[in-house]
Amino acid sequence: MIIIMQPGATEEQVKNVIEHIEKHQLSAHTSIGVEQTVIGVVGENHDVSPSAFESLPNVQAVQRITEPYKLASRRFHPEDSCFLLDGFTIGSVEIPIIAGPCSVESRQQILELALAVKEAGANALRGGIYKPRQSPYSFQGIGEKGLEYLAEAKALTGLPIVVEVMAVSQLAAMVEFVDVLQIGTRNMQNFDLLRAVGETRIPVLLKRGMSATIEDLLMAAEYILAGGNYRVVLCERGIRTFEIATRNTTDINAVPVLKSLTHLPVILDPSHSTGHSKYVTAVAKAAVAAGADGIIVEVHQDPPHAISDGRQSLTPEAFAEMVIKVKAVAEAVDRHLVPSKILLPKEMNGVIHG
Ligand code: PEP
Ligand code: MN
Repeated sequence: MIIIMQPGATEEQVKNVIEHIEKHQLSAHTSIGVEQTVIGVVGENHDVSPSAFESLPNVQAVQRITEPYKLASRRFHPEDSCFLLDGFTIGSVEIPIIAGPCSVESRQQILELALAVKEAGANALRGGIYKPRQSPYSFQGIGEKGLEYLAEAKALTGLPIVVEVMAVSQLAAMVEFVDVLQIGTRNMQNFDLLRAVGETRIPVLLKRGMSATIEDLLMAAEYILAGGNYRVVLCERGIRTFEIATRNTTDINAVPVLKSLTHLPVILDPSHSTGHSKYVTAVAKAAVAAGADGIIVEVHQDPPHAISDGRQSLTPEAFAEMVIKVKAVAEAVDRHLVPSKILLPKEMNGVIHG
């Protein structure tokens, strides 16, 4: 159920409504819009009907939300959600680009790449330190020491860092360093993990499960929102279909569908969607044309020798070209890339060796 307050309702009146909600063993989530405040009522109490709230002072309307996701619904929050990350926004007219290797492999590798992707126009650095691999014998990530390298890369470039968390036990160390917690496709329905990241106040990049419907994705987001962490970014990363010419099938439809169903920002990962570097730029452009709020892309200085996902990784040079092309598409749809900061020469001084 959502309770829509009259424009001009006072803080006291909103508080009064929240107290009534809590009296019924339900929880209240407030969305303060430009025009109106909307209060989302969540929980299970079948004895409570809209009439319990309709006559409270300055309540304009009470509506049931029929979708199973409530806080993720655009009806709860009619405007686009927009959050400030380190130095840029996501969900606004500007389109950030997150780039970096699939895996953090070494200190030198990540520091070099951080400088290279920043110079080419990235606004945030990605890098996995725990890798969800199909085979238990494949490289599983360098683990916690990768956090130190990423923190160093952040200090060197100013780029915020996006890192995948695979288990609740990894969270304590992550929250110290990480700017955005990534939940990967294989963990999209790890409900304990979703609840745990929902308890943090760190932005979450939630990837769509490879066999998940759009509604499944929104229900996964609902777990995080219900914990009070409202900074959730959804990511289309390709789904499994009968097609095997590409690693996954980019569900480009998901971008406009999600944008209509939810207020949350939607980004697209053209690397895992396609599995081939040669298709990445085309799909990145398509994403922005379709209304995506950002791109997350894998970049490696030596893709043939990358420990994971080399085939889909762009070189820094190819990434720089991708950025130029995506910029033109962004401008054609009345948006723009985040203006990048100029690298100071001292930031490039031999700090990456050793
Ligand atoms: C990744 O980003 O490297 C990754 C493993 O992504 P996904 O969960 O989409 O496969
Ligand atoms: Mn990868």
